[in-house]
Amino acid sequence: MSSTIIVNTPVLSGAGALYRKHGLTAKTVVIFDENTRNLFRDQVIATLEAEGFRLLELTVPARETSKSLNAAYRLYATMIEAGVDRSWNLLAVGGGVVGDLGGFIAASYYRGIPVVQCPTTLLAMTDSAIGGKVAINHPLGKNLIGFFHMPELVLIDPSFLRTLPEREIFAGMAEVVKYGFIADRTFLDWLEEHFDRITALKEPFLTEAVRRSSSIKADVVEKDFRETTGLRATLNFGHTFAHGLEKLAEYRYLRHGEAVTLGMICALWLSNGLGYLSEKDLQGGLDLLARFRFPKGVIKRRFLAHSSEALLENMFSDKKKLDSKLRFVLLKKPGEAFLLEENVDDREVLKAIERARAFVA
Ligand code: NAD
Ligand code: ZN
Repeated sequence: MSSTIIVNTPVLSGAGALYRKHGLTAKTVVIFDENTRNLFRDQVIATLEAEGFRLLELTVPARETSKSLNAAYRLYATMIEAGVDRSWNLLAVGGGVVGDLGGFIAASYYRGIPVVQCPTTLLAMTDSAIGGKVAINHPLGKNLIGFFHMPELVLIDPSFLRTLPEREIFAGMAEVVKYGFIADRTFLDWLEEHFDRITALKEPFLTEAVRRSSSIKADVVEKDFRETTGLRATLNFGHTFAHGLEKLAEYRYLRHGEAVTLGMICALWLSNGLGYLSEKDLQGGLDLLARFRFPKGVIKRRFLAHSSEALLENMFSDKKKLDSKLRFVLLKKPGEAFLLEENVDDREVLKAIERARAFVA
């Protein structure tokens, strides 16, 4: 299972020919959130209209609660009333919220219409828009209701990031660095060298970071689409801790990427504590993560506000638990991650969290 990923500026020009090449019709439901509509609507719509597309535009509020069945239900109605049928496709222009909701609607409408992702946040460009996991939230848990629905195309225009707030850039950068940790030492070294250029959105460093990250994610997904071999699970490096932190922060006060940065600090300590990662590699990893601005200030306080025990408890209630065992992705060395099959003693986990707290404090 794979999608064609195109990283280019301006990425939508020539969409007509590209759609034809991929067997897609020029009948498209375009979904934005309020922000991406304000920022990119004119450009996107003008380009597609010039290419002869028939369009239906939809907009949702720019917040996580848009990933709901209610929101999807309302949009289905607009689509049905407008005569959208199976011959149409859907283009999601936005961050992970729009991508997940748009993908969910595409996967379910008329038993599934093709989706094209046009991600506009760094997190979406490097992570959520790639790999075909689409979901909405249920009041009892995040991302619980969804599908595997691969996008036909992922159209990435790094210039769209120019308007993205710095906090979102750093949040996305967490996943970028994650790819270096789990899969590619050379990329990790390159990220270390150019970290400030990338976060300052300097070309060609930004585009290269997006290109490498999206291709690592696509590669992993292609090899283990349904998460059966443990390979796709390595994408969850730092995430067992991160999900606990996000829960403690009520999914409101920490961006996902911020929780992932803190979670990777914990996971590095755990990898070292269990004897897999050398002191030198631990230190190298921590030095890189220390360059993220957000473990400071409010984010740091969010991490330290809760006890290690509270964090551990909240990790347990994550949906990724399997027979109530926590699953951890650990590093053997930079660029090489694995899913640990054995159960980890709670005391080891607590020790790792304590060390991470001392590091961040
Ligand atoms: P988001 O979609 O909420 O976007 C963050 C904010 O940035 C929003 O206010 C948005 O309107 C704004 N924005 C988007 N593009 C912009 C731009 N270019 N300039 C200025 N502002 C812009 O958040 P996100 O971090 O992109 O995605 C988070 C979501 O992704 C979560 O719901 C998470 O569950 C999901 N996710 C899904 C997967 C997956 O595999 N499907 C993976 C990771 C995360
Ligand atoms: Zn993530």
